[in-house]
Amino acid sequence: MHSMELAHVMSEKIYSKTFAPGEDIIRIGDAGRNAYFIENGSVEVTLPGKDGIEVLAKMGKGEIFGEMSIIDDAPRSATVTAKENTEVIVIELSRYMQSLESSNPMMHLILRLVLSRFRQASPQTKDGITPSVTENNSMNEIRSLALEKIRFEREMHDGLKAKEFEIHYQPIIGLEEGKIAGFEALMRWHKGNKFISPGHFIPLAEETGLIVELGRVALKTGLQDHIQFTNILEENSAFMSVNLSGIQISDLQEIERLAAVIEESDLIPAQIKLEVTETLMLEDFLHAKETLQKFKNLGVSIALDDFGTGFSSLSYLHQLPLDTLKIDQAFVNDMNKTKKSMRVVESIASLALSLNMNIVAEGIENKEQYRILKDLGCQFGQGFYMSRPLPKEEIEKLLLTRPTW
Ligand code: C2E
Ligand code: CA
Ligand code: CA
Repeated sequence: MHSMELAHVMSEKIYSKTFAPGEDIIRIGDAGRNAYFIENGSVEVTLPGKDGIEVLAKMGKGEIFGEMSIIDDAPRSATVTAKENTEVIVIELSRYMQSLESSNPMMHLILRLVLSRFRQASPQTKDGITPSVTENNSMNEIRSLALEKIRFEREMHDGLKAKEFEIHYQPIIGLEEGKIAGFEALMRWHKGNKFISPGHFIPLAEETGLIVELGRVALKTGLQDHIQFTNILEENSAFMSVNLSGIQISDLQEIERLAAVIEESDLIPAQIKLEVTETLMLEDFLHAKETLQKFKNLGVSIALDDFGTGFSSLSYLHQLPLDTLKIDQAFVNDMNKTKKSMRVVESIASLALSLNMNIVAEGIENKEQYRILKDLGCQFGQGFYMSRPLPKEEIEKLLLTRPTW
């Protein structure tokens, strides 16, 4: 069934259609006019490959396919087949255009999803992992980038189920005593024999919402593993710092879930730190403030990550229940190269002191940087000079040696 046959009948509304298992909804090479929103059931996106059919993605309820027709009506670049009885809502290209001005909430939802697919997540394209669309891409390139993105999205879903994501820990050192004071939990994706860095998958996980589940798992795992670390250290003052994405706290239910993870942990809340970035504050400052206060009331502390890279407005800094500022590694990096970076670090250090906050300097890569930061009054530091992020087992081994720097 193609849009041509239905167009005049259905032009006034979005319509739905049911496909039987095995039935093609769109075929590679067909003229592309519609996008489809899966109301019920599931589909498979395939391409004819060298050795038979290659499955690019599986999609289910709530997902959209065929949306490339929003920017062109070139032939379909893949085949989409119903895997079971599948009901799809058909959205015609012309409706997309009209809907920019319409108030139909469904249209807005769909448009947002479509646009988010094309939003540039990260400029890195080397390994094709976070494909980005630039003005110079041809339509063909854009389509294959979009497909790649859809595939990557699916692989992340599958990877989460297959427990391919794990957490590594980077020690955070008390610079004065030179001993481990805490850890930062950092996510890793072991995909096949490849290793994908969070810089690649976190932006897309945020875009697709998968960060909500990933982030919750990271918090759970981090707190669990820290019980072992605490036991080996034989004291409970060391903290575990876990990154929290703004997306995670945009949902009230998720905030409750995260709070429950914290409350059900066997750690004392003072051992738990949540790292947030300034982008969190940009969308809805009041909501961010209230949420941080909610966590703070549980007894955990809050760190502002990547400080110095964003807006860093003093007016909001003191309104937020922050305990720690993390100086971005860019400044630490340049510290002994440029006077300006040195002064930035210096003033952040004195700012933090006057606001009664702790400072963690990130990205310490040599002894010289360690010494300067210590002399500036930074309490804490983390960096490759002391230790790279390590898997749990290696942290346990390291702790047994009672390392000092
Ligand atoms: P971040 O929170 O700023 O984490 C610090 C990053 O700096 C880590 O990169 C760490 O490996 C790296 N690093 C530490 N010391 C040094 C050093 O001396 N030199 C250099 N060049 N780099 C150093 P990583 O693990 O690749 O993580 C990248 C980013 O991904 C993190 O930046 C964070 O924004 C995000 N991320 C990682 N795990 C999570 C997570 O569980 N949830 C969320 N929302 N984001 C995460
Ligand atoms: Ca961090
Ligand atoms: Ca950081």
